[in-house]
Amino acid sequence: MGEKGIDILKLDVKKLIKMLNEALSEEWLAYYQYWIGARVMEGPMRSEIEPELLLHATQELNHAELVAARIIQLGGTPVLNPNQWTKLSRCDYDAPTDPYVEVILKQNLKGERCAIQRYQEIAEFTKGIDFTTHQMAVNIMNEELEHEQDIEDWLTDMNRLKEDFLKLRP
Ligand code: FE
Ligand code: FE
Ligand code: MG
Repeated sequence: MGEKGIDILKLDVKKLIKMLNEALSEEWLAYYQYWIGARVMEGPMRSEIEPELLLHATQELNHAELVAARIIQLGGTPVLNPNQWTKLSRCDYDAPTDPYVEVILKQNLKGERCAIQRYQEIAEFTKGIDFTTHQMAVNIMNEELEHEQDIEDWLTDMNRLKEDFLKLRP
């Protein structure tokens, strides 16, 4: 652990580690939700959406790596047991029991909005105090914002497709 790195921080480090462990749990659940969702999904635009969901999964895993590394730097212990993930996470894990692409996208969208809220809070908590965690939170949030936008765009396009089909009906 970086003693000087912790010593300079004028904030509640314990509270920050707790927030980061919650975020870490959320990232792993988001990773698996995207990963399994990409595999079971069916419906329109599958060939375009499936690889992008897998890319998002990889990006969530990368977020988990960044958050875990920062927890260790702060002298904390990253959550050690997956059975803690759903307890620590504030974002629901929605099992993709209905594999229809629109349902899966809406589940993922909910997760992204939860993640955006999380990193907004971490960024606010560390702003002007813990520049390292702040910068990490902002960087991760930028990717969560891209994820949200990707999903919103697909849902918009799917609605357009549906409207066009309805217009074709006599
Ligand atoms: Fe993430
Ligand atoms: Fe995301
Ligand atoms: Mg994307």
